[in-house]
Amino acid sequence: MLDLNKYRNEPEFHAALEEMFSSLDPSVINNPKYAPILEKITEPDKVITFDVEWRDDNGNKQVNKGYRVQFNNVNGVYKGGLRFHPSVNLSILKFLGFEQIFKNYLTTLPMGGAKGGSDFDPKGKSDAEVIRFCDVFMEKLYPYIGVDLDVPAGDIGVGAREIRALYLSYKKYSGKSDCSLTGKPLDLGGSLCRTEATGYGVTYFALQALKTYKKTDLQGKRVIISGSGNVALYCLKKVTELGGKVIAMSDSSNTIYVPDGIDFETLRALKEDRRERIREYKDIKENVRVLPTKDIWKIPCDIAFPCATQFELDDGDADRLIANGCIGVFEGANMPCTLGAAKKFIKEKVIYSPGKASNAGGVAVSGLEIEQNKKGERWSFDKVDKKLKGIMSNIFKNIYKTAKDLGDPYNLVKGANNYAFIGIAEKMLERK
Ligand code: NDP
Repeated sequence: MLDLNKYRNEPEFHAALEEMFSSLDPSVINNPKYAPILEKITEPDKVITFDVEWRDDNGNKQVNKGYRVQFNNVNGVYKGGLRFHPSVNLSILKFLGFEQIFKNYLTTLPMGGAKGGSDFDPKGKSDAEVIRFCDVFMEKLYPYIGVDLDVPAGDIGVGAREIRALYLSYKKYSGKSDCSLTGKPLDLGGSLCRTEATGYGVTYFALQALKTYKKTDLQGKRVIISGSGNVALYCLKKVTELGGKVIAMSDSSNTIYVPDGIDFETLRALKEDRRERIREYKDIKENVRVLPTKDIWKIPCDIAFPCATQFELDDGDADRLIANGCIGVFEGANMPCTLGAAKKFIKEKVIYSPGKASNAGGVAVSGLEIEQNKKGERWSFDKVDKKLKGIMSNIFKNIYKTAKDLGDPYNLVKGANNYAFIGIAEKMLERK
């Protein structure tokens, strides 16, 4: 029997394992044929760690840690983002890499699970410093990646600027121009709709779930979205297009509460072009209140999209959202709700979708980027967007059906985990 206690000193990874194994149906977790799989699936295939020595603008030497966790490739090449954030450590990357195995399976595209990154903080660094850091990071990483082996992408702290720098360095060191990274800018072979994919994808998922469970949609709904990075911004855009009103968003310093609704283009320019803090929105628009970050969950809303970071929404926040009449919580981030918060939503029949299902749009379009690069094609925005919609709808249908078949229709955690675990486990048994 698998002993999860040995992972207690890796709290994020431990939580991800607990979420997976505690939700597996007894007919799955107690099935003797899966016993060897349980042990094997909790250990990454390979963990690569390295030092990244780079020079800041004053010529001083700085050193950060670099990582790549290649977790499992039974479903295809290793695939998962790179995160640059001071909090990055092996526990976080193992948690994210483990989640990625099942998320990628749910997309139905041939991709295994991986994750990587560094404790480097791009915030407050000059463009030249970021580019120097990315160059050394890639000098160390390039031997381990490539289109037939491992294809990283962006994540927290790794946006268009970082991916451009990383890809140019990959080409320089490897001498290759293959699709070794996704989320590339268009002029370097990126896909249309990749920037929008995760935010649009979580919104498409929400729409399907709202229709199925509550026979409603986003029209006229009051929505809150935590974060104001890539996922949150494009969730804002799609929710607004579909008739919802986004009344609050955040960053790690503040929440803005805007009862009239947040304007996408104003916030996009503030965050993407000028890299400002979200509170600056108050200087541009009227009727804006600036609150502490965590107060976002106190604002009454119909629907919440946690799109910032892991464990940002705890049991107390869940109680407040439920008391305020929230009908749906759709994770755009990876595991933003604590296990306790998720349990409360499921118990109270608030529609709750785990990130591994509802935020799979980003990696799905990354998969489509690989396909386009391999075929030498560039698909239109509409074509990619339509495929994304189809993939998100398919993910919802598969996990909802599994949850219903297991007699627990509001438990999409059970639905996603049982569906994806069986799929991956069967592939692992086939490979033996
Ligand atoms: P970004 O770096 O673009 O944005 C992260 C945002 O979250 C920033 O606005 C950041 O603010 C904010 N933030 C960080 N910590 C907190 C906090 N404690 N409370 C409120 N806001 C906070 O990252 P992404 O948008 O790419 O990623 C967000 C989440 O989505 C992550 O969990 C990521 O793993 C997940 N994800 C991303 C995908 C993608 O395609 N990008 C795909 C699937 C999942 P600040 O600027 O102050 O740090």
